[in-house]
Amino acid sequence: MIVRKSQAELEAMREGGRITAACLRMLAGSVRPGVTTRELDSLAEDFIHDHGGRPEFKGYQGFPASICASPNAMIVHGIPGPYRLKEGDIISLDVGVRYDGFVTDSATTVPVGEIPRETTRLLETTRRCLEAATEQTRTGNHLGDIGHAIQSLAESRGYGVVRDLVSHGVGRKMHEDPQIPNYGHPGTGPRLLPGMTFAIEPMISLGSYDIRLSEWDGWSIYTADGSLAAHFEHTVAVTEDGPWVLTENGGESG
Ligand code: MG
Ligand code: MG
Repeated sequence: MIVRKSQAELEAMREGGRITAACLRMLAGSVRPGVTTRELDSLAEDFIHDHGGRPEFKGYQGFPASICASPNAMIVHGIPGPYRLKEGDIISLDVGVRYDGFVTDSATTVPVGEIPRETTRLLETTRRCLEAATEQTRTGNHLGDIGHAIQSLAESRGYGVVRDLVSHGVGRKMHEDPQIPNYGHPGTGPRLLPGMTFAIEPMISLGSYDIRLSEWDGWSIYTADGSLAAHFEHTVAVTEDGPWVLTENGGESG
């Protein structure tokens, strides 16, 4: 069942979403060669607590940290640790904050210093996939429109859309119904109604979309072929007035 939120609940989520957004911005600004992913995790944990939230990932099914930090061919769910960022890396940062009873979930992939033009294009395309999907997150559309927007843009540029991980409903729980594949056919699936809130998160690879779970830590998910992957995510509400990005920085929309 897709839980719909009241206007007051959406406003509470927006407040939490501001913390999530500000945390991600702070983290992106802290990325530089020599920084470890554990240091980023520590910065995020302090930031979230200082702003009255709780890092939702910490302890989630036993996850040991406050953020996911996934460099290069790691797509998602990287455990922060001793890995030291180096010039030319990309790092995907994923933050979930619980605030006033609700979770907001957002991610971005940022370059470490200078990166090749081909990698910049991957990041830019993944960000645009998220924008295109968000644009479809409106009353009367269908769930399949979201995945279709991601797939058509990514594949038109020759990239792979990860199939085994999905976008999802979000609210009082981090993962609510529905699961939203990041690919699909327009006009299929449930109709979108005001008050639905989704964490939309395209995961796009330079190569194959097949994935590999790390046997070493049981969390990290890599591209099976070792190609680079990018991940952008926003928590978005369906409203009468169009999509409302609850985890964006700055002013209101929707
Ligand atoms: Mg996330
Ligand atoms: Mg998510």
